[in-house]
Amino acid sequence: MDDTRILLAHGNGGRLMRELIAGIFVRHLGNPLLDTDADAVALPQPDGELLVTTDGFTVEPLEFPGGDIGSLAVHGVVNDLAVAGADPVYCTLSALIEEGLEIAKLDRYIASFARAARQNRMTVVAGDTKVVRRGEGGGLYLSVTGVGVRRAAAPLGMNRIVPGDAVIVSGSVGDHGIAVMLAREQFGLSGSLRSDSASVLPLARAVRDLPELRFMRDPTRGGLATVAHEIARASGHSVLLEQHAVPLRPEVVAVCDMLGYDPYFLACEGRIVAAVAPSAAEAVLSRWRALPEGGDAALIGRIETGGGRVILETGLGGRRVIDELEDDPLPRIC
Ligand code: MG
Repeated sequence: MDDTRILLAHGNGGRLMRELIAGIFVRHLGNPLLDTDADAVALPQPDGELLVTTDGFTVEPLEFPGGDIGSLAVHGVVNDLAVAGADPVYCTLSALIEEGLEIAKLDRYIASFARAARQNRMTVVAGDTKVVRRGEGGGLYLSVTGVGVRRAAAPLGMNRIVPGDAVIVSGSVGDHGIAVMLAREQFGLSGSLRSDSASVLPLARAVRDLPELRFMRDPTRGGLATVAHEIARASGHSVLLEQHAVPLRPEVVAVCDMLGYDPYFLACEGRIVAAVAPSAAEAVLSRWRALPEGGDAALIGRIETGGGRVILETGLGGRRVIDELEDDPLPRIC
C-alpha cells in the first residue's frame, strides 16, 4: 500500500479519513469556530450587511508560477467580496480529492489556502472532504463559499454606470491565463511569467469610500473584455477601450501573437476593473498606484452613450468591435 498517496479509504468515513482531516485540514485551518464534530456551527453575527459568494476551483496544473489551487481559491472568493465593497469574514471549504494525489501535495495546497485565508482575515468555519476514484477528478477540486460584511460607502453596481464614466484597471491583464498555460508546457512553450493571483482587498479598500465609484469587478475567466461586455449588456451603453492604454506584459503579448489569442479575453486573478465618475478617476489612479498591487493601474477607456457594444480604439484612431467570447481557449484556468 502506498501511504504517500490518497486512497479511496481516505474518504470512507473511517480511521484514514479522520487522520487525514486531523493531520492536514484541522492542522492548517483549525480555529475556535471550526468544530469537526458538529453538524453545523453557530457563528457570531458580524456588524453590518452580509454578502455571500461561492466558487469552485479546478485549475490545471494545481501549482503554477505565482500560486496554487489553495491560494487561488482564497483569492477568488476574497476578490468577489472585495469588489462588492465587503471585507471577508467567514468561509467554508469543500475539497474533492482524486485517488492517487500525493498527500504531501494536498498538505501544501491546504497550507497555502490557510495562509491566504489568514492574510485576508477570513476564518474557515466549516469544511468537507470527499475522495473520488482515479480518473474522476483533476487531482483536487476546491469549492469555497465566502461571507463578508459590506463596508463600501454606497452599494456598487453596474446600474450606476453612466456615459462619460472612466474605466480603470488596477494592473496588467492576462498574466494568470498565460502563466497557467505556460505551466502546462503545451505547444512546447515555457517562460518565467507569474500569475497575478492575489487578494484585491487592499485595492478595493483604498477606493471604496469614494461616492463617485460606480462599480468594480475582478476580471477572471473571460478577462477584461468579458467584464466590458457585462457592463455593456447591463447598462445598454458602449464600453470604449483604448488599445494603447491597456497594460500588457511583454510575455503576454508575445504568447498571444504566437498563438493568436486575444489578451483582453485572458483570465486575471488579482486585478480590478472599475467604472468611476470622471471627476474621481485621478483619485482612483493615485490611490491604486500608491499600493504595490496597483503600480501599473491605468485609465483604459470610458463609457459612451448607447450601442451596448465593446469597442477597441486602436492607435491610429481606428475602431473595432470586440465580440463576446465564443469558445474558451484555455479551459480549467481557475
Ligand atoms: Mg468575480
